[in-house]
Order: sequence, then structure tokens, then C-alpha cells
Amino acid sequence: MTEPVEAVDWSTLPGRLVVLSGASGAGKSTIVHRLIDRAGGKVRRSVSATTRAPREGEVPGLDYHFVTVEEFESLRGDLLESAEVHGSWYGTPASPVREALARGECVILVIDVQGGFQIRRKVPNALLVFIQAPSLEELEARLRDRGTDSEATIARRLTNARREIEAARAYDVQLVNDDLEACVDALTKTLAEHRCARGMGDD
Ligand code: 5GP
Repeated sequence: MTEPVEAVDWSTLPGRLVVLSGASGAGKSTIVHRLIDRAGGKVRRSVSATTRAPREGEVPGLDYHFVTVEEFESLRGDLLESAEVHGSWYGTPASPVREALARGECVILVIDVQGGFQIRRKVPNALLVFIQAPSLEELEARLRDRGTDSEATIARRLTNARREIEAARAYDVQLVNDDLEACVDALTKTLAEHRCARGMGDD
């Protein structure tokens, strides 16, 4: 049987939890893909559960666990954090994270700031990193270029982005994604400096 989320002393596990937040379009997913490619087996990304519909090209179980609202409700007891974002529910399944941390791995949660603050309370030694898009204008352009969102969705995401930028002040580290490779370099360096993954940044 798995231990209830509340019963786990998350900060005593040998691995390190890293929260990565940023406005949508700030490039979080691409940055994490690159980071994981570079880090080999040292860093893994947690796969969230969500009630939102899959976007074209998204792979169930790899990008997200796509679930119904009912399924999400039944998962709640085993979620490390959860939040409603842009009208859908998102949450981090606790068991895979706990198992990876117990093995001493570095686990990255790509989540919003509401989730980030829940993690801060539950896992005090988690490292919270915020990725800023270069500017709100740039962010808007990226969301439009992506071509997957309606005008109403873009407007809602920009409002959320303003709120997130404000909340980001409470994060440990803030990085600006004005150049993808430079941002991945900076994140790699940050994780090494904070000893998130053994051997990372050695080469
Ligand atoms: P998207 O639908 O564009 O993939 O994600 C929308 C927002 O939900 C992003 O800010 C993303 O980081 C956040 N998100 C994704 N998974 C989770 C999760 O498990 N928990 C929380 N709190 N936010 C999440």
C-alpha cells in the first residue's frame, strides 16, 4: 500500500524536487525537454494528470495523463498538489514522485504558481524556478504563433501571465527565456549549484 501524501516527510528523501513555473508560451516544455536530453538519467519530469483535452501531437501518459473530471476526483487522495488552471484541473501524482526522490533522483514539476506554493509548504527544500518570457508582447506573439488557442483563450492566458509574473517574486530563482540555449544553460547551472542532480554540469 502506498503511504498517504500527508504521512511522507518529503524533505528527508535523498532526491531533490524542482518546481518550474512560467507563463504559458514562456517555453517551459521545450526547456525541460532540452534539459532532460542533456542530463541523461539524472533528471526526470513528473507527468501530471489533467482534465483538459489533449492538444494535437500530445501523447497520453507522456505529456499528461488525460482524465475525466470524475477520474480526477478519485485521484485527489494521491496528488502532491493540484490546481484549476484556465478552467481545467491539473495535479501531480504523488507516488511516482516519491519513488523517484527515494531513489535520489531530481524530479521536475512543470506546474503553475498555485501548485508551486502548495509544494513550498509541503516540501520546504524544493527549489522553485520561474521562467519569464522576455515581455508580455513577446509572450502574446508566441501564443499567436502557436496557432492552437482561440482569442478568448489567449486573452485569459495573458491575464494569468500578469498574475503569475507578480507571484514569481516569491520563487527562489528567476530566469528569462530570451534565448533558448542560454536559458537551458542557466537552468543546468542553477540545478548544479543547488545540488539538485549529482554530477550535473560536470561536463
Ligand atoms: P497547458 O494546458 O498549457 O499544458 O498547461 C497550463 C498550465 O497548467 C501551465 O502553467 C502548466 O505549467 C500548468 N500545469 C501543468 N500540470 C500541472 C500540475 O500538475 N499542477 C499544476 N498546479 N499546474 C500544472
